[in-house]
Amino acid sequence: MILILVPNTRPDSLEYKQLLTHLNNLPGITTRVHTEVGTEQTLTELYLVGNTKALSVDDIRNLPCVDRVVRVSEEYRILGRHQNDERSTSFTYNDVVFGQETLNVFAGLCAVDTLEHVEIMMRVLQENGQVCTRMGAYKPRTSPYSFQGHGKSCLPYVFDLAGKYGIKVIAMEITHEVHLDEIRTALHQTGNATGIMLQIGTRNTQNFELLKIVGRQQDFPVLIKRGFGITLDESLNAAEYLASEGNRKVVFGLRGMKTNMGDPHRNFVDFAHVPVVKRLTRMPVCIDPSHSVGTRAASPDGILDIMHVTAQGIIAGANMVLVDFHPSPGKALVDGPQALLLKELPLFLEDIRIARDAYLKRAELVKQYQG
Ligand code: PEP
Ligand code: MN
Repeated sequence: MILILVPNTRPDSLEYKQLLTHLNNLPGITTRVHTEVGTEQTLTELYLVGNTKALSVDDIRNLPCVDRVVRVSEEYRILGRHQNDERSTSFTYNDVVFGQETLNVFAGLCAVDTLEHVEIMMRVLQENGQVCTRMGAYKPRTSPYSFQGHGKSCLPYVFDLAGKYGIKVIAMEITHEVHLDEIRTALHQTGNATGIMLQIGTRNTQNFELLKIVGRQQDFPVLIKRGFGITLDESLNAAEYLASEGNRKVVFGLRGMKTNMGDPHRNFVDFAHVPVVKRLTRMPVCIDPSHSVGTRAASPDGILDIMHVTAQGIIAGANMVLVDFHPSPGKALVDGPQALLLKELPLFLEDIRIARDAYLKRAELVKQYQG
């Protein structure tokens, strides 16, 4: 059971203390406090864990400081959608809104290779009105002999350039807790020139210790990719680990499933699950067409498979697109064959707009029919 308190409830107020005393005296129930400090208000939610079936929603609603009460089903307690659940489906980070109603594009380098490529990429993003990007510094690679990413050494120039070109949020995968400290330090040294969305890659979806560490901090939002060989339920539970440790600024990423049934694509594209994840949870849903498709193959209509699946995800309501671009894919150290060209960025963005408009029209149409 979740108790949403009246905004700006003060922890030192008499009513709040009375509420906690009451809850602490309920047999078999433990209470966990979660506070979300926003620019305008502080929201406190109390999670009652244990035998909450015996409690009446009406009784609890009448307790001091309580605004609303949500009885949660067992699944995805914090991130899930529950009956009479009006909790928010969006969050703001570094002035960028991420939600189930919005759409953000993160075009950028799979892996940072040179400062020049980072700068060219960011300049083109700015010219195209983009404020988000992807930049891989820590790369989990199949072979230990492959390029592993420049790691912390590239962070200062990546962050400085992001500041220079107005990039507000960079999606960056981390594979170890020390990367979190390295990112914090570099951000601090560059005067917080930009923001970071930490990415949990598909190889680490069930790295529970990493999830707990990333979940315990609330400075950075998290993009967690679906595990490529586990069920959707297992991946959604992995996302719930982040929230259960305190971080609810979580985006869920679809990136295709590992099976040869998807050949000739690198992974079996799973964007039909966009509306499913939006129905089951309150997370914004990201699609990664690059790692799903893995090639620049085009169909007879001239449209690249990567662009086709992007449109398919967006017309189904996707909220974020993570996509590989490279100024010179032949020179890319990771995933060059799937990178889109910089001159394709305006086309890609226009194609996205068409699909997004179509999605919004579909949602409107269905409302009219229901209304
Ligand atoms: C990536 O986005 O760079 C990446 C490695 O993706 P995934 O974890 O989905 O393979
Ligand atoms: Mn990649």
